[in-house]
Amino acid sequence: KKITELSVEEANQLAQGLRETLDHWSNLYYTKDAPEVEDHVYDEKYEDLLALEKAFPEIVNPDSITQRVGGEVLEGFTKVTHEEPMLSMGDVFSRDELVEFDNRIQKNIGHPVEYNVELKIDGLAISLVYENGKLIQGSTRGDGNIGEDITKNLKTIKSVPETLTKPLSFEVRGECFMPKESFAKLNEQQLEEGKPVFANPRNAAAGSLRQLDSKVTKKRDLDTFIYTVVEPTVLNVDYQHQAIQAMAELGFNTNPTQEVCANLDEVWDYIAKYEGQRDELPYGIDGIVLKVNDLHLQQELGHTVKVPRWEIAYKFPPEEEATVVRDIEWTV
Ligand code: NAD
Repeated sequence: KKITELSVEEANQLAQGLRETLDHWSNLYYTKDAPEVEDHVYDEKYEDLLALEKAFPEIVNPDSITQRVGGEVLEGFTKVTHEEPMLSMGDVFSRDELVEFDNRIQKNIGHPVEYNVELKIDGLAISLVYENGKLIQGSTRGDGNIGEDITKNLKTIKSVPETLTKPLSFEVRGECFMPKESFAKLNEQQLEEGKPVFANPRNAAAGSLRQLDSKVTKKRDLDTFIYTVVEPTVLNVDYQHQAIQAMAELGFNTNPTQEVCANLDEVWDYIAKYEGQRDELPYGIDGIVLKVNDLHLQQELGHTVKVPRWEIAYKFPPEEEATVVRDIEWTV
């Protein structure tokens, strides 16, 4: 059946099935750091669920994975409450959807806006809290509101500064990842020792960072890119591009590829450039992120229960397959 031919009951039943599958995969991915399927398989089912919920808004419920940030706190870790929730991000897979996103922003703001475009690093989100320039707390995203305290583990990572160049008190966020080469070496070593191998660098990074014993983390080669300042006024910055530069000056590792784009043509050139260079980069990326550059406009646009309205991820198509337009038939 086409989506328009489904009854509410049928849609609800299909949605429930998809939620169960997605919850199962999410649990393996976020909580156990051991995914069972590739990201694009997950993404397709997630898009199917979104399509059903869009066509039948009455079937949406707060427990649905589309309404909450995936992830849980592992037992044994001290819990950290995020004063400002650590959200997920909406994603798109085509230029048309990027145009839709841009139209929505322009409609909301009333004029065209500049975007800061960044690589979407395939790792896991971290939060770092500084008091008078000293690192006092580091945590994972968890369910967005409550994360895991991994301060000790983060301190073992060379690129995480314990002391900043200025005595500021604030929070930054970014990505922790494992470089491709270190991932390959780690898996070789795991095999030699008869231990399970990691599915991909993202899971190796997550599994290495979410350790109760920081000595294990210390042996793993992890790196970070910091890209978010939670209170921009502390850095006296008005733009995302500027914020990243200011964070670099404070001693954080930041990704050098960010570019300000005045329109979608420029964004598209950035996408083409990095999709082409993807294999040569020493770390994994799964797309690019488009962020409204003006931090005041970001504030104005706000967020939904799950994602900021001022940013979107453009996900690269899976490497081995061509993109196909999906016109799903639902079996009920
Ligand atoms: P996401 O990973 O798609 O996007 C949000 C995250 O992007 C942020 O939390 C941040 O950590 C990261 N990020 C990287 N570079 C960034 C940058 N420059 N600026 C801002 N953020 C940046 O969203 P999510 O909710 O964490 O996860 C959903 C995705 O996880 C799915 O799209 C799917 O691909 C994957 N997933 C896979 C499975 C599986 O079984 N394979 C299961 C669950 C989720």
